[in-house]
Amino acid sequence: MTVADQQSEPESESAVETARRQLERAAAHLDVDEGIVERLRYPTSVHRVTVPLERDDGSREMFTGYRAHHDSVRGPYKGGLRYHPEVSEDECVGLSMWMTWKCAVMDLPFGGGKGGVVVNPKELSAEEKERLTRRFAEELRPVIGPMKDIPAPDMGTDPQTMAWFMDAYSMQEGETTPGVVTGKPPVVGGSYGREEAPGRSVGIITREAMEYYDWDVEETTVAVQGFGSVGANAARYLDDLGASVVAVSDVDGAVYDPNGLDTSDVEDHDERPGMVSGYDAPETLTNEELLELDVDVLIPAAIGNVLTGENARDVDADMIVEGANGPTTTTADRIFAERGVHVIPDIIANAGGVTVSYFEWLQDINRRKWSLERVNEELETEMCQAWADVRGEYDARDVTWRDATYIVGLERVAAAHEARGLWP
Ligand code: GLU
Repeated sequence: MTVADQQSEPESESAVETARRQLERAAAHLDVDEGIVERLRYPTSVHRVTVPLERDDGSREMFTGYRAHHDSVRGPYKGGLRYHPEVSEDECVGLSMWMTWKCAVMDLPFGGGKGGVVVNPKELSAEEKERLTRRFAEELRPVIGPMKDIPAPDMGTDPQTMAWFMDAYSMQEGETTPGVVTGKPPVVGGSYGREEAPGRSVGIITREAMEYYDWDVEETTVAVQGFGSVGANAARYLDDLGASVVAVSDVDGAVYDPNGLDTSDVEDHDERPGMVSGYDAPETLTNEELLELDVDVLIPAAIGNVLTGENARDVDADMIVEGANGPTTTTADRIFAERGVHVIPDIIANAGGVTVSYFEWLQDINRRKWSLERVNEELETEMCQAWADVRGEYDARDVTWRDATYIVGLERVAAAHEARGLWP
């Protein structure tokens, strides 16, 4: 290794830049019309709204909200809404592009959308969050709908947020419209298994990837960054399968047990914030140390851009399964490819979320509830089919897992553009 190789590579890159580079890499492997690729570099539209909120003390504060529509060639726009101080137009556009590929990889009849409000939800009371959500729903009402654009939970939003959102939309439309958002509580048209689905799919895909490489699950060690809904469900799924989950973390730090943690005993960050890093384990680590543990599988399931040019050479895992959206920067991705670290991308690994969102939407439209068993069975089938499609491309070409996954998604989206044509 040269000295230059050993140096860390700082970078700053927005989600949309990362998403565009990934699109270009996939396009280079396919015979796709250049005009279609050019079109897919841009969103169809981005809606920016001001959301006025009456604070509990009676004062008014203005918040900025976005909804990016990337592509709808395969069906209505679909994707989450995040409440986070770092939400930006660029981030929403990048994340909406990822939703286009994610839905296509899963072969769902949806396009890609994403939105959010620039706000720290921890600084809002429950009543303020409800008022903000209702007003945001009202501001977005002209551009959303069960056949147009169907939001869902993401960082900082949850089933209760979706229930308020659906109620606000329905009250204005004059009819209860559960299909306008997914990720609702089951009592108002939500699906059983939706909350667990992204983490469950991370578990399923990790299982399939381990099988691909002939790894013995019982001998496999796993570290999970982030113990919210995605991380906790992925960790528990793999723990149940027999893998040894040696470290998990929340924003305050990580707990580590080389003999494996009992993941059912660690409370979710969502259930009780602060309980993960406060858990009584043999050792505590920082989040950075967790990322550099010598484990077989590393699952970043917290926020974006945690694996960068600065730490990618220190990551000691053999496989990375992306639970969060966009945890790996372009530079880190390149370094992992050079080092032979397998990176299974977000757009398949956590796609169980939008897949069960699709099941939820079907249940809402058909007014017919599915059992949890049916949801989990169909999720298993869809995830295995998508994995087989991606594996087919991986085996057929000299590419990374990310490229193989993008190739599957882009091929489907481009074929739909080809079939529909450009009009007017
Ligand atoms: N926010 C989730 C994601 O990034 C779910 C999207 C959805 O269910 O529409 O995949």
